[in-house]
Amino acid sequence: MDRPPLGPAEIVVDLAAIRANARLLGATAGVPLIAVVKADGYGHGMLASARAARQGGADWLATATVEEALALRADGVDGPLLCWINGPRSDLAAAAGAGIDLTASSVAHLETMAAAFAGRERPARVQLKVDTGLSRSGAPRADWADLFARARAGEEAGSWRITGLWSHFACADEPGHPANDRQERCFRDALDLAAEHGLRPELRHLANSAATILRPSSRFDAVRCGIALYGLDPAPGEATDIGLVPAMTVTAPLLMVKDLVPGDAVSYGQHWVAEERTTVGLVPVGYGDGIPRHATRPGAADRAATVGVAGRRRPLRGTVCMDQVVVDLGGDRPPVGSEVVVLGPPGAGGPTAQDWAEACDTINYEIVTRIGGRMARRYVDSDVEGSAS
Ligand SMILES: *Cc1c(COP(=O)(O)O)cnc(C)c1O
Repeated sequence: MDRPPLGPAEIVVDLAAIRANARLLGATAGVPLIAVVKADGYGHGMLASARAARQGGADWLATATVEEALALRADGVDGPLLCWINGPRSDLAAAAGAGIDLTASSVAHLETMAAAFAGRERPARVQLKVDTGLSRSGAPRADWADLFARARAGEEAGSWRITGLWSHFACADEPGHPANDRQERCFRDALDLAAEHGLRPELRHLANSAATILRPSSRFDAVRCGIALYGLDPAPGEATDIGLVPAMTVTAPLLMVKDLVPGDAVSYGQHWVAEERTTVGLVPVGYGDGIPRHATRPGAADRAATVGVAGRRRPLRGTVCMDQVVVDLGGDRPPVGSEVVVLGPPGAGGPTAQDWAEACDTINYEIVTRIGGRMARRYVDSDVEGSAS
């Protein structure tokens, strides 16, 4: 399950945190949890995250792609499993055979599925997705009647059972945004119209992590939580503190310490120049490992990302390289080999995923999902006693 290391940095994932977060989200929602483990479990490892979420009581798992869902099945993960992206090369028949819930957003999707399922003895499991305001996947309102009619016809023909009906929020991380009310009303309209067409989907779901915590009216029959499962805040600045525990810590060894005198420039482009004597340290992580290159920007040294070295936060200096970053040690000389906390929970001595996100003008999702590259990934379980399921 652990990946072989190709570099000296390490991602440590605490499975107890994922388990505890799943329990917490399930308890908060009061309805079944659909644990979202797409994109390699947001950088935490898809299989391990899936197993931990299940141990924490997640009834359902979800991936984005059919291929991710099939990979989970190949690794022995059974039970309810939903996916929502399939392409021309996706093996829909295999997914149906593996009991995976597929998602259709259009009549054309349903026609493709009907062809792929021809000859199956048992109806496949299909969920319908409606667009309520994201204008991404999902059927637009004008197409709902046709979609529901074709879905119902397929049920009568024995091709599938429509097991769910769902949609996705655009602004759940801004609870005061008027789009949330509009989308929820729109979703209720879709549910009514589906019922008029004779559909009885048992799983109606709309909420992502932010809505699960901030918008009780959107919980319906289940909630789809990704980022919160990994312990990160889905809506920084909002009332989201339910006690989630970040699962990821990234560490690397300090490889070298050197002295700089005024005028010495650091890294490609020599954008950062020492104004006084200082010491700098070399840390073997870079954009090849998912450290964003815009964690430092020319002329914005005061906003540079930091890492934790020997218990203190130290700013990155100069351009982030593919394999390394340089940090300002301010004249100190921690021993080579000292542990550098590149990312971790609050209190771990380094920046949080949210700190990185703010330094890089992005969201914590992107930070943890891109972390990886050559890093080894190791799983720990801080709560072995509680792991029996
Ligand atoms: C990624 C995703 C989720 C999970 O969102 P979080 O904000 O991480 O909880 C839920 N639903 C869909 C459709 C998604 O693509």
